[in-house]
Amino acid sequence: MSVSEAPSAPDRLVLLNPGPVNVHEDVRTAIAAPDSCHREPEAAALINRVRQKAARIGGGDDSHTSVLLAGSGTAALEAVFSSVVPAEGRILILDNGHYGERLYRIVSVHDVPHRRLEFGWTNPIDPDEVDRVLAADPSLTHVGLVHHETSTGQINPLREIGEVVARHGRQLAVDAISSLGSERLDIPADHIDWLIGTANKNLEGLPGVSFVVAPRHRLDALENVPARTFYLDLYGHYVSQDRLNAPLFTPALQVLTSFEKALDLALAEGTETRGARYASLADRVRTGLASRGASFLLPPEHRSNSVTDVHLPEGIGYDDLHDGLKAEGYVVYSTQEQLAGVFRVANMGQLTEADIDGFLAAYDRVVAKLAGVAA
Ligand SMILES: *Cc1c(COP(=O)(O)O)cnc(C)c1O
Repeated sequence: MSVSEAPSAPDRLVLLNPGPVNVHEDVRTAIAAPDSCHREPEAAALINRVRQKAARIGGGDDSHTSVLLAGSGTAALEAVFSSVVPAEGRILILDNGHYGERLYRIVSVHDVPHRRLEFGWTNPIDPDEVDRVLAADPSLTHVGLVHHETSTGQINPLREIGEVVARHGRQLAVDAISSLGSERLDIPADHIDWLIGTANKNLEGLPGVSFVVAPRHRLDALENVPARTFYLDLYGHYVSQDRLNAPLFTPALQVLTSFEKALDLALAEGTETRGARYASLADRVRTGLASRGASFLLPPEHRSNSVTDVHLPEGIGYDDLHDGLKAEGYVVYSTQEQLAGVFRVANMGQLTEADIDGFLAAYDRVVAKLAGVAA
């Protein structure tokens, strides 16, 4: 591309990290909602509307409902993984990355009986292995996994795993925090008992609200499971929101107002259309970087449509690449623990083809400059 064709600097910081994302103008302005009290009827109405819309995103039907939590995605994860397994139960944690490991760490902190099954950070979870382990170990009552392992950009075979877990009559808890809204997921068809989502990734809201979607009968049955935490007691939040029509503690009301707008936009666009929009942007990132000699951590068939793990160019460190791109208006992301020499480019949120082209042009300038410095 000649200099005259180079896209101009972006008009905002372009977020190529896997959430928080660039949001729609209506989502941003909605946060300037009027001052309000969370124990008034208008707050109860807002909470109930958001609960219904959040349950619909993943294909929940009338038998499902959702519970909202103030906090980032990990708050909802911790509510589920500390609340749903009874003392006489045991959960199988399927771990193939940073976020699978986080599930293991949560159940460990709360002394939830568990078994951890590791697959390695770049391998998909193998449903046949899950089948064998469940067949051999009747003490396992629950299974937990991450749908989109955001550390590597890997999509795990949720449908196949859901079928295995349902066939064995166990309960399935899914961290769908970075997949819900743009990856194929269907709560009934995938046999999901506990679905965890958050506002500020593929649902394109602002950070501060996360949620759990579950069949009502599963939430009702938690009455018999003693809480392991006070603030994140899932049953307590459910009873308050669903039966008492008042939140247990102070919710992030203005973030909820903005999240309702994001949910309206997500429902209007539809998961399939948003997924196609993301896939096309991911393809632009991958084709663009590949034509510049970059290589990727995962084979194409395992990649999500919103995160790409890329090997750093020879002789260039992550911090220099990040800082150079940031100065041009683009935020890329580092990787976690086991993935030295790799950086991440996400394409969640309100991004355009021009944003991706601008990023690629900036990448060229930054890499050329750093290579010149290194030489
Ligand atoms: C982002 C993310 C989380 C939650 O992280 P928070 O910082 O609490 O929002 C959990 N699981 C996955 C797979 C994620 O991508």
